[in-house]
Amino acid sequence: MIIDCHTHINNYHNEDVESIQSCLDNLQLQMRRNRVDIALVLTSYKVNAGRPSTKDVVRVTRDLKNIFVVAGISYLNFSAGDLEEIREMLQDGSVRGLKLYPGYEPFYPGDPKLDPVYRLAADTGVPVMIHSGDTFNPRGKVKFSHPLHIDEVAVDHPEVNFVICHIGNPWIRDCMEVVYKNKNVYTDISGLVLGNFSDRFEQFMMKQLQEMLLYGVEPAKVLFGTDWPISSMESYIDFMEELKIPEKDKRKIMFENSANLFRLSPTDSPLTNGSFFNALR
Ligand SMILES: [Zn+2]
Repeated sequence: MIIDCHTHINNYHNEDVESIQSCLDNLQLQMRRNRVDIALVLTSYKVNAGRPSTKDVVRVTRDLKNIFVVAGISYLNFSAGDLEEIREMLQDGSVRGLKLYPGYEPFYPGDPKLDPVYRLAADTGVPVMIHSGDTFNPRGKVKFSHPLHIDEVAVDHPEVNFVICHIGNPWIRDCMEVVYKNKNVYTDISGLVLGNFSDRFEQFMMKQLQEMLLYGVEPAKVLFGTDWPISSMESYIDFMEELKIPEKDKRKIMFENSANLFRLSPTDSPLTNGSFFNALR
């Protein structure tokens, strides 16, 4: 069983915008090839030809048992009506979490404007994923996406679980402290590389992850995610296969933690014989 808690079906290049269906087909193909049983698709903070709305992504994935949606929320543009619409999708289970994009948009997670978002998460019992660290777009402002800012919301909203995306890369140590200190903060390892890991970078990142676990971050707080299509799913699976940590910890990271946090059941996946690294060969 493998759960990829962080994928997108956006177009990141402006030439030839691919249809939502073709992006979704491509995601499912990658999942089958890499034996990923369940994926969460995170929608964007903006909606345009290449970035489908949460409603549209829910419409095309509603009947799929292996794909669930995390609703991106635009700090600059969200309305009370948007949150009500998302509330319904959270209640019927088609949406499993919320996502904020500080850095891409200029705000700190602790901005009081976001209180209704955190209230919605608390009411419906879903986690809030927060972009953290470097921005894929050079127009982002990284002072807003430093993982240390997530400490404030974690303390002020103890009833909400938070996920620091991308282990705060490159502020991995700061991310470690915020995850270590707050029992309601998790982190995902997605988006550490564009495309494939090079051997050297893979070694470097493995060391960082092993250090994180050694430092005191519980394996129960780390989630497997790729950021596909920005990062290669295949390269990420290889990375995790090679990571030298106890198998029981790997199992938590690869699926148990996400299954608990997003309330996903193994039976949600049609790949009932989907193996965890081909039965940990
Ligand atoms: Zn992402």
